[in-house]
Amino acid sequence: MSAAATAALRTGAPETEEIVDTYRDLAAPVVAQIADEGFTAQWRAMADLGVLQLAGPDATAPGPVTRSLAVIEGIGLAGADPGLCYALASQLFGMQFPLRDALGDGAWRAVDDVQQGRVLLCHALTERGGGSDPFSMETRARRDGDGFVLDGAKTFITAAPVADRAIVFARTAEGRSPFALSAFLFPLDLPGIRRGETFAKTALPTVPMGELIFEGARLPAGALLGEEGSGLAVMASTTAWERSVILGYALGPMQRLLARTVDWAADRDHFNRSMGASHQVAGRISDMALALHRSRVQLYSMAARLDAGTPARQLAAEAALTKISVSEDYVRLTEHATALSGVRAFLPDFDLAADLAGPMAALTYAGPNDLLRVGVARQLGLPVEN
Ligand SMILES: Cc1cc2nc3c(=O)[nH]c(=O)nc-3n(C[C@H](O)[C@H](O)[C@H](O)COP(=O)(O)OP(=O)(O)OC[C@H]3O[C@@H](n4cnc5c(N)ncnc54)[C@H](O)[C@@H]3O)c2cc1C
Repeated sequence: MSAAATAALRTGAPETEEIVDTYRDLAAPVVAQIADEGFTAQWRAMADLGVLQLAGPDATAPGPVTRSLAVIEGIGLAGADPGLCYALASQLFGMQFPLRDALGDGAWRAVDDVQQGRVLLCHALTERGGGSDPFSMETRARRDGDGFVLDGAKTFITAAPVADRAIVFARTAEGRSPFALSAFLFPLDLPGIRRGETFAKTALPTVPMGELIFEGARLPAGALLGEEGSGLAVMASTTAWERSVILGYALGPMQRLLARTVDWAADRDHFNRSMGASHQVAGRISDMALALHRSRVQLYSMAARLDAGTPARQLAAEAALTKISVSEDYVRLTEHATALSGVRAFLPDFDLAADLAGPMAALTYAGPNDLLRVGVARQLGLPVEN
């Protein structure tokens, strides 16, 4: 796709676009060098570029969330593996920013090593018996002196096989009271903690997924995030952050897919003319651009709200709408690219091979879209429960 065409779709604030371009150019040679490396080496290479570094609140414009979103978009545009972009975005927006909110600046400095990429976090909520319903969780933390003893298992956790520290949600009281859950942050090398099964995935296969098993693991008092019983509030914060901006990881892959499909449609000859001369083909390309444009505007608008100091939890409804909209646009854009690529979409060794599983997974993680829709309707006043 020509530079002019790309520029037509990049209409954000100049300082934000500059960060996107800077990180695209910084990451491009690194992406080529690390293509055959394992996940942890790729993670560190991106961290060495400053991808996980949060700008302080006093940084010059744009604000820290917008900056991080632009950085993630830039590395995606450079061709960084979508699974890697997803994992980086997940840690940045679903863990680092909410932890900085929760811990305050002083305590946050204690987890500064996370920003250097040498310590990897994971967010452990889901269990084998239940994902969507947090109150079905069976992992329990009971008081023991000034600390807690943790028993249970968390499953389908991104980065669990390689993570160094985890945010873990556990039951500290019985029943479905909003105060029955608590959140903890602790290192994964404590006695009584082991890694369980590792799961191969069809979606985002480069980022490892696995299980964490707790067998009488003793957590120090300092592991508790917030107060005992405030787990649901911590979860509301991490999930609102995540739903607001995690799909920023898709912006680079979406732009690359659009550019590749435009080139293909313009170059391919069909019925004695360029394939792109068909109005139906042009319509699909425009729909792809629309999906990308809508997603970009929404994600940067959420980042601006967070930068303006709006607490993430106040943005829960908009965060859910953004997550639904961008994930479904990512799927739609990929469907159009798949249709226009014909058989080549299904041949992994071809440039036009399509990845539908990655975008489809976005319909499930960070809250299944069906359940998010129920929550949005409830906020609008319908008497509907999950
Ligand atoms: C790529 C990927 C990465 C992930 N990473 C993590 C991670 O790092 N940490 C973590 O804790 N979890 C993670 N998960 C797990 C994810 O959070 C769960 O898959 C999700 O919460 C849904 O749980 P479930 O898969 O058990 O689906 P279920 O709860 O069984 O729901 C399946 C589907 O049923 C429908 N459904 C169920 N109940 C209702 C209802 N009441 N109303 C309407 N529809 C309903 C929805 O369509 C829903 O999608 C990840 C998942 C994926 C795909």
